[in-house]
Amino acid sequence: MDYLPLHFNLRAAPVLLVGGGVIAERKANLLMEAGARLTVVAPECQFELPEASGPHHWIARGFETSDVSGMHLVVAATNDLAVNQKVSIAAQAQAIPVNVVDQPDLSTVIFPAIVNRSPVLMSVGTGGGSPVLTRLLRQQLEALVPDAMARVAKYLTSRRPRLKSFYPDIDVRRKAAETFMAGPGIGYAERDAWSVADDYLFSDLGASRGEVYLVGAGPGDPDLLTLRALQLMQKADVILYDNLVSPKILDRARRDADRVYVGKRGGLASTSQLSINEQLVLLARQGRRVVRLKGGDPFVFGRGGEELEALVKAQIPFQVVPGITAASGCAAYAGIPLTHRDYAQSVRFVTGHPKNQQVDLPWREFISEGQTLVFYMGLGGLAEICAQLIRHGKAVDTPVAVISKGTTPESVLVKGNLETTPGLVARAQLSSPTLTIVGEVINAPSAQVALQQIHD
Ligand code: SAH
Repeated sequence: MDYLPLHFNLRAAPVLLVGGGVIAERKANLLMEAGARLTVVAPECQFELPEASGPHHWIARGFETSDVSGMHLVVAATNDLAVNQKVSIAAQAQAIPVNVVDQPDLSTVIFPAIVNRSPVLMSVGTGGGSPVLTRLLRQQLEALVPDAMARVAKYLTSRRPRLKSFYPDIDVRRKAAETFMAGPGIGYAERDAWSVADDYLFSDLGASRGEVYLVGAGPGDPDLLTLRALQLMQKADVILYDNLVSPKILDRARRDADRVYVGKRGGLASTSQLSINEQLVLLARQGRRVVRLKGGDPFVFGRGGEELEALVKAQIPFQVVPGITAASGCAAYAGIPLTHRDYAQSVRFVTGHPKNQQVDLPWREFISEGQTLVFYMGLGGLAEICAQLIRHGKAVDTPVAVISKGTTPESVLVKGNLETTPGLVARAQLSSPTLTIVGEVINAPSAQVALQQIHD
């Protein structure tokens, strides 16, 4: 280990910054955020320090060795090697930690890349060797650690004294904190609901009460999962999923989570909604963290609302995580701008169930110009949709796009118009799920270049 990472308390500490350019400015901001009292030494300074009368000041001249006296930290950010060297030598002569930007050989301390969820701080360093790699690692950490971690840390810090008196034994205390972190209570701390979080932290409720997360899994591409969805999938004890959720998405869940399929497959009757609701309640009552994973967004034709009703009735705590709905995902990957201002001022998401080859929908409302229609329906209804739109007066050459397995590598796009599309689709033998988009936006330039198209 070449360096010892330390978190440096600089509140009200005098810090010298040599240099007045852009890089110096970045360091100045960071140092001020940490509460340092800044002295900037530079003949010219491109940035302004807040409140001239405040704790920070600028000395408008070149560096002098005596400037380092009394400083707790010295930072050199000039592009003059001789100056940087002089600063480094002066600081080291007085055993003051010194950092010369981008010159590890002149530095005794190095600024790591930081992920700031104060009071949680994570720092990444590569010994000054590769700033690019450091930044890359930082980005990955940014994605991994939820913003809410800061709120959890604040909560736990505030509860420390009470934890100590409530659980005097250190082992018991650690166990209680671990149970809390692994259970639903942490979700309340994340949302600043401190008094509910207390119910879990200061009782054994945490072990006995489960929670349901109603999570949108997006339209197919696992990379379209939200960070929140991933975080909850990593926490889950059980995952209930249906047929719109691909194995690739399930792969991202916690390894030892139970996976329960509750969809319909190959014409078999689907697990009834009632039984899904019952399972959710039952599992949560067993104290398990249940992720109910749904394709797209749970509140867009996902019956998410119905499942929540059952949970509300049974007084089971829940959270809902939105997902990218099929219309957004499929349209984006096909380059179809759903509301391109030249073609459409509104977009309408429609669903319906074909009964005896008929779909009962307010067709008259669908024919007005300047709107995009997105049908969340299987291919069974396509011919009927096209026929009804023509019958109610929509122009026959209105563009239609049918997208099968949108956002996945197997995605196929068929484009035609209200007259030609049903025939094209029949020949293309598309597999489900499929989404139908109707409207002029399909002719937008960006939609001309999408891959794997079948045209009329
Ligand atoms: N809650 C989901 C929709 C569920 S309804 C969402 O927000 O996306 C099921 C319908 O969604 C399917 O019949 C199909 O029309 C559409 N659908 C979902 N995923 C799709 C995909 N990857 N490609 C095409 N259509 C999709």
